[in-house]
Amino acid sequence: MSHPMLPNASLRVLFLSMEEVLGQHGVNATLNTAGLTRFVKNYPPNNLEDCVPFEDYATVVKAVEDFYGPRAARASLIRVGRATFQYAMKEHPATLGLAGLALKVLPLNMQMKTVLSNIAAGMTKDLNEPAHVEEQADCFLYVKEACGACQGRKAEKPVCFTTIGAILEGLKWATGKNFDVSEIVCRATGGPTCTFRIAKTPLE
Ligand SMILES: [Zn+2]
Repeated sequence: MSHPMLPNASLRVLFLSMEEVLGQHGVNATLNTAGLTRFVKNYPPNNLEDCVPFEDYATVVKAVEDFYGPRAARASLIRVGRATFQYAMKEHPATLGLAGLALKVLPLNMQMKTVLSNIAAGMTKDLNEPAHVEEQADCFLYVKEACGACQGRKAEKPVCFTTIGAILEGLKWATGKNFDVSEIVCRATGGPTCTFRIAKTPLE
């Protein structure tokens, strides 16, 4: 995968989610900053055909940081990420394979494992972003071998806040609870993967 491409649906879901959090003006400003003016009021269609290189997704995320400042951007990007999970559930239920699962009857640990594994499988299968889940004694690790959120970026600290938001929202959907999720390895800081640690014990 020398030039990994994101499907139309990934970028579409990102833009719709940004619109919810940043408003139409925020999206327009960000797209102009990112040099992606062609997408202003012209979002990609809702299909899985190749759309843009991974770098473009990362460029949009970076433009949000530049436009709002790192601090405000972090919170906004986590909210954008939360919305991407909701849009993916609405627009691409088959990708996630979660609708209709009787998660409520499962123990908390299995609810967590199921939602994380299904997100990883959907990303791998449909969105060209291979990912898998590892279980440890006190946490799950969500490991992305490729990551549109930071492709081509260099940073001192992990930057993949949209992924954190998507994981948080998926866990909330599956369990009704909030968890501590942090990115412990990031390709933007030179890591081999983008890896997220999800504590098994919910927050109060
Ligand atoms: Zn990343």
